[in-house]
Amino acid sequence: MPTRFDRSAILSVIDGERRRFAATHPASERLARDSRGHFLAGVPMHWMSDWGTPFPLFVASAEGVTLSDADGHRYVDFCLGDTAAMFGHSPAPVAAALARAAPHGLSTMLPSPDAPAVGRLLAARFGLPVWQLTATATDANRAAIRWARALTGRGRVLVFDGGYHGTVDDTFVRLDHGRTAHRPGLIGQQADLTRHSVAVEFNDLAALEAALAAGDVACVLTEPGLTNCGMVLPQPGFLEGVRELTRRHGTLLILDETHTLSTGPGGWGRQAGVDADMLTVGKAIAGGLPAAVYGMSAEVASRAETLLATKEAGHSGLGTTLSANLFTLAALRANLEAVATPAAYLHMTGTASYLAHRLSELIARRHLPWCVTQIGARCEFQFSPSPPATAREAAAAMDGELSLALHLFLLNRGVAITPFHNMMLCAPATTREHVDTLATALDAAIAALAGTAA
Ligand code: PMP
Repeated sequence: MPTRFDRSAILSVIDGERRRFAATHPASERLARDSRGHFLAGVPMHWMSDWGTPFPLFVASAEGVTLSDADGHRYVDFCLGDTAAMFGHSPAPVAAALARAAPHGLSTMLPSPDAPAVGRLLAARFGLPVWQLTATATDANRAAIRWARALTGRGRVLVFDGGYHGTVDDTFVRLDHGRTAHRPGLIGQQADLTRHSVAVEFNDLAALEAALAAGDVACVLTEPGLTNCGMVLPQPGFLEGVRELTRRHGTLLILDETHTLSTGPGGWGRQAGVDADMLTVGKAIAGGLPAAVYGMSAEVASRAETLLATKEAGHSGLGTTLSANLFTLAALRANLEAVATPAAYLHMTGTASYLAHRLSELIARRHLPWCVTQIGARCEFQFSPSPPATAREAAAAMDGELSLALHLFLLNRGVAITPFHNMMLCAPATTREHVDTLATALDAAIAALAGTAA
């Protein structure tokens, strides 16, 4: 068994799997044709066409961890809307709350009686006392950055190389040969983001300290572990160091727990005992409905209240019309009370550990120079013998064609995993049998790439 696959074998698997997909998905193909004329790239959001299939897969319904497509095929879903559906598709308590709420008003610009309960639930769960709602994690991060600048009177934002925080201009920088540069691929980017944003290597406290020393950084915005460039976990002491340095330099620490909500009910920071000044989380927080929240410490909240009390008239630059609507509050409450429970996390994390074990066993048996990383309910295999410590190492471990070959092979065997990298999530409805299905299909994919029997 080779430890690396021939490029020609990878391309041949991609070609074969794309043909197989095309032959078995006539209804999706018809829907793609019908959508083509009226949507950019033929889809309601342009990157829905980036899964590598010859045309997009059209989903007819999604329940628990089962996707059913327009052709009637069923898939075990380990992508789970890239975390939005981490608690399963349409969790029953959320669906019931929405059905109850829907006839009584969707958006009013006013709070509903669910508001106090949601505030209490968020405070108890994440350990920060004061909260605001937005429609997306992108918007939560944008708002947190704006507050940080307002409260510190400083202009610069620091993010780590390889981090992703949504479509927030201030965060679209990376390290290029040691210097902060724009991330590639940004459409229509005109402003020079490097004037107000700085990128630093993850797991490099010395570089962080050097960047904070000038005293002009309003906030450090980071995921506790990077999940969007392949997984990059913090080395022991790194997060504590980030906390200590930000405190020492008067910089606010904002933890983006949107993906690391997979760690446990209160996210990674809570579990690790790292107290953020602000915290943002979206995607799964309301069970998959567009909703996000950001929280602040008592000290930050008191400074923000003072600012609001003395603010001059005019737009604040924060908040959008549809945020915090009645419907969303109902979903948030149901999700926090009845879905994202400690018992659910116990199951999700246990299943993900079983998945990590099955993947590690497969990798060892097939002598592959790959590794497996787990963050609670989230698991990823990477094409490097040990987990990367920086985004640069994670990028070096990426192989887009190899991932695509594996993903297409799995999709054609009824298993969906997240495109672009090799990330899988376990929901409350994910079973060990589902994991076995994935492991068996992945083993067959590897055999196909290696030209051996499964
Ligand atoms: N933060 C993190 C850590 C994310 O991974 C993402 C999306 N992948 C976002 C924020 C933005 O989420 P949304 O696209 O729902 O606004």
